[in-house]
Amino acid sequence: MLSYGSAVGLGLIKGLVQVKPTTAYFYFKNNGCRGSCAFCPQSTTAQGGSKRIARVDWPEFSIDETMNVLQNDIWFRRICIQCSDEPMVKEQLPQLIGKFKKSCELPISVSTSPLSREQMEKIRNAGAERLTIPIDCANAKLLPLIKGKDMKDILNALEAAVDVFGPGKVGSHLIIGLGETEMDAVLLMHQLQKEGIVPSLFAFTPVAGSRMERSVPPNMEKYRRMQIARHLLVEKGQDISIFNFDLEGRLVGLDISSAEFKRIFEGGDMLMVHGCPDCNRPYFNERITGPIYNYAKMPEANELLPIEGELVGLAKGDQV
Ligand code: SF4
Repeated sequence: MLSYGSAVGLGLIKGLVQVKPTTAYFYFKNNGCRGSCAFCPQSTTAQGGSKRIARVDWPEFSIDETMNVLQNDIWFRRICIQCSDEPMVKEQLPQLIGKFKKSCELPISVSTSPLSREQMEKIRNAGAERLTIPIDCANAKLLPLIKGKDMKDILNALEAAVDVFGPGKVGSHLIIGLGETEMDAVLLMHQLQKEGIVPSLFAFTPVAGSRMERSVPPNMEKYRRMQIARHLLVEKGQDISIFNFDLEGRLVGLDISSAEFKRIFEGGDMLMVHGCPDCNRPYFNERITGPIYNYAKMPEANELLPIEGELVGLAKGDQV
């Protein structure tokens, strides 16, 4: 399966895209995902029938058809292979990566549930440049209910991935709005950052056919606070001690001056999609009409002002 924008970019379907994806997103599956993620309609435990992941449609193509057109591509700077949680998919992954490497010279990211160290080495040797193992839910108690997985197992796999791929070449996805507190998300991002793992933020999106289809997306102010927290920890290397939380785990203050906060906010980079280089995931979490959680291209100056307003009160001197 290819994300709609990727399929348009490769000329496999005709259509219009608002923002061109700079990464071509593939979803590699066999009989159906055995995972039990409550937010995803691809799980065999979901009601099924959906071709969506997050807000995006994913039409299906044969591998050969895709490889033929990949050679002609001009849009993309990276390939992202997202994997269904199935033993056969993990087994065939090195072979698939080999096919991509024969068809194009783009760097390849793989996003998958935990692999054994041997499997990680095989995909690295086949040509994968980066490995992402999504944690998704930042609360260790909720994670087994939401994903059917244990936080420790995923963290152990991420640690092994850093050994195999190197610091900065391993990532994890966090979905904001799965019942975690802001403190859960900030502490986890800090831990990942310290271990050489790049966290990437998504906003929970209810998708028809998933167990959480009736749940609500996160409040925008909360999401903005998590974006600035990620920016300060990952891009600016700030210490965890600058974050102040209330008793409910809500981020209520940052020990940075208003002037510094303004400087960091300027340009809007903290609002952009971040993860692997050149990953922009246009409209994965949002309608084209907005509101926009993650910007796929730099926000305009007139978009920044109201967002800055949402964050007033966080920096030192703003706090009452
Ligand atoms: S950050 Fe982007 S390119 Fe990297 S694994 Fe996640 S979706 Fe794929």
